[in-house]
Amino acid sequence: MTDSLVKVENLKKYFPVKLGVFEGWHFENGKLKRKRLYVKAIDGVSFEIEKGDTFALVGESGCGKTTTGRTIVGLYKQTDGKIYFRNKPIDEVLKKSPKDFKKNVQMIFQDPYSSLNPRMKVYNLISEPLRVHKLVSSRAEEREKVEEIMVNVGLEPEYKSRYPHQFSGGQRQRIAIARALATEPEFIVADEPISALDVSIRAQILNLMEDLQEKYGLTYLFIAHDLSVVRHISNKTAVMYLGRIVEMGNTDEIFTHPLHPYTKTLFDSIPSVEKVKQPLKVTIEGEVPSPINPPPGCPFHPRCPHAMERCKKERPEPKEVSPGHFVSCFLY
Ligand code: SF4
Repeated sequence: MTDSLVKVENLKKYFPVKLGVFEGWHFENGKLKRKRLYVKAIDGVSFEIEKGDTFALVGESGCGKTTTGRTIVGLYKQTDGKIYFRNKPIDEVLKKSPKDFKKNVQMIFQDPYSSLNPRMKVYNLISEPLRVHKLVSSRAEEREKVEEIMVNVGLEPEYKSRYPHQFSGGQRQRIAIARALATEPEFIVADEPISALDVSIRAQILNLMEDLQEKYGLTYLFIAHDLSVVRHISNKTAVMYLGRIVEMGNTDEIFTHPLHPYTKTLFDSIPSVEKVKQPLKVTIEGEVPSPINPPPGCPFHPRCPHAMERCKKERPEPKEVSPGHFVSCFLY
C-alpha cells in the first residue's frame, strides 16, 4: 500500500432513475417485470492523491467530476469501489470516527452564496466549526482564531459582524474558504471554486488557494470544467468523460503532450489571445451521450474523429504510455 493521502479504486456511483407509473414494464419468461434504470455518474474511476498535491479533475458538465468529489467527502455513498483516506477505507473511518473525518476533509463549493447560511454573520460562519470540533477553549481564543483566519484569507476582521450578502462574490468565496480552513483540514475538495466568479477576480482566488496550501500544508482535489484554469494550480491532472477517466498524468505532461482525442478537443476549445476576436469554434461534434445508457465500447466513439470498428465494441483500458501518463484509447 502506498502512502497516498486519498486513494480511489474502481469507484462507481449510480443514481436510480425515477420512472413514471406506466414506465419500464416488460414481459420476461411470461412474467411482468419492471426495468430498473440508473444514471451511471461515475463508472469505474481510480486515482491516488499524494499529500501536498493538487489533483485536478477536468471535464464537461455531467462527466461525473462533482459526483466524484462529493462521494470522496462522504456526501454520497458509493455504489461500488473503495475510497481510502490515510490508507483506511472511508466507510470504516466514517463509522468509527466521523467527527475526525469531517474535521480533516472539507469541501468548497462553486457558488459561495448558496453554500453560506445567509442568516449567519461572518464571525459565526467561521467560529461554528471551531466550536463543533472543540478547537478553542474560550471566547477570547475563538475571537482571536476567527480574526487570524479572516486575515489569512484576505478579509478585514472588522467586517466580522456583516452578513454574506454584504460582500462581493470574491469576498464570499473567501468566507467559504475561511470556514473550510477553520478545522485545519488536511484535504479540501474544491468544486469549481472560481467558475461562478467574475473573471477579474478568479486569479486572486487561485493565488489565495496556492498561498494557503503552502501555509497550511493542504492537499487539494480541484474540480474544473476548463483545462486552462488548472494549468498553474495543479501538479496532476485527470480528464473525465462520461463517468470515466480517459487520460491522467503530470499536469505539465498533459499540457505538452495531450494524447486522448477528447483531451485534445478540450485544448482546442480553450480561448487564446489570437482566438478571442474569432467566433467561438465548436470543436467537439455532438452532445455528451446519456449516462443512463452510455454507448458500448469506448464511450467517446460517437464523437471521436478517429473512431474505428473496434472502438464501438471494446472498452479501452488505461495504458501507461510514459511514466505516470495513462491514456484509455486504442490509438496508443
Ligand atoms: Fe477515439 Fe477509439 Fe480512442 Fe475512443 S478508443 S478515443 S473512439 S480512437
